[in-house]
Amino acid sequence: MDASADDLLSKVCFECQLNRGCCFAAKPPLTNERIKILLDNGVSGELIEFAGYKRLKVKPDGFCVLFRTWRCGVHLIKPETCVAGPFTFDLRGSILEIYLKKKSICPMVELLKENREIFERLLTLAAENIMKLLKALPKDELAEILKIDEPETELVAEIWLQDWSSCC
Ligand code: SF4
Repeated sequence: MDASADDLLSKVCFECQLNRGCCFAAKPPLTNERIKILLDNGVSGELIEFAGYKRLKVKPDGFCVLFRTWRCGVHLIKPETCVAGPFTFDLRGSILEIYLKKKSICPMVELLKENREIFERLLTLAAENIMKLLKALPKDELAEILKIDEPETELVAEIWLQDWSSCC
């Protein structure tokens, strides 16, 4: 992605966070590997909780505990679902379904739909991160995560599970 496109997406994200963006009530799931990375980079274990799956806590104001001054405080090492946004996922049998949030809840979506190249790059990045997450999560934790409703999304890609072996 060129710098101007990256800057534009960052600006859209920043302005959205001022109005309760995707870091509000996020509770992203954490693999053991991601927890180790966070701890190794100074994140306190007290910011992590187990509620059917391991995840980041939220602050009293409703934002993720790692949300700092309207930006992610761990941007370079943030959890897989945070990297994947505004794409999200579900599983249907042996098919990984990738969904895109509607522009009504993520203003970045309009930009993605206007620029196919950026859309494809971010979709690939999202799929890679989601597949890494799925491979690393215990099955019972994944089952809990799949119960979470993701309203206002549209299906944009389907990936057969047997294709995963070459990934990640
Ligand atoms: S880890 Fe960062 S990007 Fe993910 S929800 Fe928390 S503050 Fe937002």
